[in-house]
Amino acid sequence: MARRKRAAEAAQAAGADALLVTHLPDVRWLSGFTGSNAALVLAAGGGARSGRAKSGAGLKTVLFTDGRYTAQAKAEVAGIRVVIAPKAAAVAACEWLAETRVRRCGFDDGNTTVAALKQMRAAVPAKKRRGLFEPVGPLVSKLRWIKDPAEIAKMRRAAALGCRLFEEILGVMQPGMTEDAVAAELEFAARLAGAEGMSFPTIVASGERSALPHGHATRAKLPRRGFVTLDFGVVLDGYYSDMTRTVHMGRATAEERRVYEAVLEAQEAGVAAVRAGVSAGDVDEATRAILRREKLDEWFTHSTGHGVGLEIHEGPRLAAKQKQQLEAGMVVTIEPGVYMPGKFGVRIEDMVLVTARGGEILTPCIKAWIEL
Ligand code: ZN
Ligand code: ZN
Repeated sequence: MARRKRAAEAAQAAGADALLVTHLPDVRWLSGFTGSNAALVLAAGGGARSGRAKSGAGLKTVLFTDGRYTAQAKAEVAGIRVVIAPKAAAVAACEWLAETRVRRCGFDDGNTTVAALKQMRAAVPAKKRRGLFEPVGPLVSKLRWIKDPAEIAKMRRAAALGCRLFEEILGVMQPGMTEDAVAAELEFAARLAGAEGMSFPTIVASGERSALPHGHATRAKLPRRGFVTLDFGVVLDGYYSDMTRTVHMGRATAEERRVYEAVLEAQEAGVAAVRAGVSAGDVDEATRAILRREKLDEWFTHSTGHGVGLEIHEGPRLAAKQKQQLEAGMVVTIEPGVYMPGKFGVRIEDMVLVTARGGEILTPCIKAWIEL
């Protein structure tokens, strides 16, 4: 309820007397509902059909979904009216809105397609439609950036499982094994350990392929000598984990070793820069400055990190010049990398909890040089 109240207040501050939530992670965060067709309407007191337009009156919340989810909605959602309608949930929500006194309904324009908006508008009579839909941006997603203690506990468990799987897979990897087989072993172990799924298609990028920042596992074989980058995560209780480690098969060259140590130093500098009150841009600069000093920054072709939670990529973005301040309770990744096309690449990534005193690593598995 506290979450829904805060979301409604944010909508009100944006000039809306109701909020239509259709982005599924937002719906889940606000209501607990995990179905795939859902829309949630939060309406200030005046939103009720019989209610009077009076600010401060009770918050009316209605969840819309379809018949496939009747039982699930009952089990997952408490204290919210559920409407089952055989149509797109957003359309059902807008038909309901048309019957209320709501005058301005905020919606997340960043997560609404042009086609969806057209359907939403068509569900409301022309007279009521004028000025009804107010783009207010990712209000709810932004509230989700800051995790409460129960969410942090879930993220800790997801991150810890990721670490354990990494340490286990080290005992399995050997030259000649395909990247696909490494990914399959990792994912099988994840499911056996209770993961609902992987956060994204597992990245296993070996040899020259390690220079691809997003090299999904292929039939390529792990080399006798060369890097292997593993970037993966598990979903536990709805929360995503995300981590990267780069290990070396066989003996490394001096250059490989030097690049690895530089990326590690950059990554640790990024973690050390995390603290409530610092800007995302300053954290990005902390990693980039080390690689600049080592004359490797031209190969660091992406941003330093991102928020993670009910989605694998959330805000805040940790990128150059980002003014957004970090706040206690945010969970962000710190993942600098160096990618030299045709040669090799290295990335190291941790999940880090932002606190007033600094960053706490949620993925505390080995980062020191590993030679298999
Ligand atoms: Zn990752
Ligand atoms: Zn990441």
